[in-house]
Amino acid sequence: MSVIKGSTSDFLHNNVKVFRSRVSKTAWQGIFIAVIALIVATLTVAYIEHGDISTASLIDVQKTNFALWVLDIVPFIFAFWGQYSSTVLAYEASAMVMDQTQALRDKADTFEKQARHSITHDLLTDMPNKELFYDRVEQQIVSPRGKSMFSVLMIEVANYKEISDTLGRNSSDSLIKQVAVRLESAFPSPYTIARLENNTFSMLISDNLADKAVLELAESVHRVLHDVFYVEQVKLTAQANIGIVHFPQHGTDVDTLVQRAGIALYMAQNSNKGCAVYDSSFDARSPKQLTLMSELHHAIENRELELFYQPKIRVADGTLSGVEALVRWNHPKHGLLYPDQFIPLMERSRLIQGLTLWVIQEGFTQCAQWHEQGLDIIVSINLSAKDLNNPELPDLISGIKGATGINPKWITLEITESSIMTDPDAAMQVINRIHDMGFQFSIDDYGTGYSSLSYLKRLPLKELKIDRSFVSDLLQDESDAVIVNATINLAHNLGLEVTAEGVEDPQTLELLKQEGCDLAQGFLLGKPMPEAEFTQWCRERNP
Ligand code: C2E
Ligand code: CA
Ligand code: CA
Repeated sequence: MSVIKGSTSDFLHNNVKVFRSRVSKTAWQGIFIAVIALIVATLTVAYIEHGDISTASLIDVQKTNFALWVLDIVPFIFAFWGQYSSTVLAYEASAMVMDQTQALRDKADTFEKQARHSITHDLLTDMPNKELFYDRVEQQIVSPRGKSMFSVLMIEVANYKEISDTLGRNSSDSLIKQVAVRLESAFPSPYTIARLENNTFSMLISDNLADKAVLELAESVHRVLHDVFYVEQVKLTAQANIGIVHFPQHGTDVDTLVQRAGIALYMAQNSNKGCAVYDSSFDARSPKQLTLMSELHHAIENRELELFYQPKIRVADGTLSGVEALVRWNHPKHGLLYPDQFIPLMERSRLIQGLTLWVIQEGFTQCAQWHEQGLDIIVSINLSAKDLNNPELPDLISGIKGATGINPKWITLEITESSIMTDPDAAMQVINRIHDMGFQFSIDDYGTGYSSLSYLKRLPLKELKIDRSFVSDLLQDESDAVIVNATINLAHNLGLEVTAEGVEDPQTLELLKQEGCDLAQGFLLGKPMPEAEFTQWCRERNP
């Protein structure tokens, strides 16, 4: 670039010089040929007219022969034409080169501008990106006006992943683009709106608004996004969660502000308003969750997950029927973590698919080992709601079945009513494909969700598990007793087995026996145990 950057007239002048010298050379050759032709013609004419070649005959023909006069002019014409055309040609050619150079320079400038733009802007929406946003917040902090208050909103499109999973990436991208356009037109400059991540935007409100006004603004963001979007002719709304922080109240540097806006967003996700202003009391609840989220990525690779097994007993004769595999996380810092502390987090991201695969792999392997050792145990494995929306699950299960050599009859997959009802048709397809391989299904936590009997009838089920909330109060609460009784009858009428969960005392077990309940699971009969402890427990029961 620096070569081209000299002054335009210098550049043109130099080019003209070069071109002219080339064209002049051609003109000189022309003059030379013309002079030679003139000499030869004069000699020839002198010889023809006078029979000799002398100075007198040469002068004579030059004076009298019209054709030679014409030839005499030719070298001058060449000289003049050479001068003229060399100048014109040189200027024309040079101007052409100049034009092309200018075009190249413009192109290079455009590329440079685009490159500079893409460093600070999001490719999909063309909005400022994270870097530019942080920069703007920083400028706001250090500007002379910066001592006045400003606020940052972190806005998340909560149903982005769901849309991406069901309608595909193009549709979720299209929704994000539309969200961006809508936000920018509803909240034009001086608001700065940026796309921070996939489904997260942030807004800098620099107008020194009162807390209440910022909340009202957040409400209008909700409203703006709640209006219908059309994505490939499907009507959608963007469900937003918003976390809010105020400067300088909640942080005096950009990192603290953004981190706390993230914590507020986390609180917003768990509130029913979908909006939360940062509060320092959140810290006690959230950082662990937030760090857990990032550590979950590595939990599987670092072999920190473990399956515990809880026995399922036949109520009639007390024999072992099977086990339920329950996942635990041996966290290097926090110790043994229970599923409730990390499964809901995983379910919000794709991580749950990795966890389910790990559990299936581990559960099938263990099941195969027990059967090799002559232990006829059915292993129940929990599937998450998200798993039933994963069309790849049947193939993955089939692969693990082949690799571990288990018989599908040895496995029961536990699903919940709500996981089926979110997208019954898709869930039904996944369930049927897995059932076609010979696997059995069970409805977990029965009674806590909503499911229609017609679906229950259509599902290839083997078992209903009555939720422990009904079982634990069975002796005291009459309505629970009615529900348990009705569920047992319903299950038997549908040809299904019934398992009662959470059996903690012998009286409850006795009552369940009278009701005709088939299987029981609970601390009374055996807690969830690591594999080695469970094997020991089996040996002690059947020495
Ligand atoms: P769940 O499927 O209903 O599992 C039974 C839960 O009840 C287990 O809690 C178990 O420890 C507990 N429990 C068993 N007997 C008793 C009892 O007598 N009294 C009381 N109070 N509780 C009892 P856990 O292991 O904490 O699991 C909680 C939930 O986490 C499970 O509920 C299940 O929904 C989920 N979960 C566990 N493992 C997995 C897994 O591998 N994948 C998925 N997707 N979810 C899992
Ligand atoms: Ca279960
Ligand atoms: Ca359950």
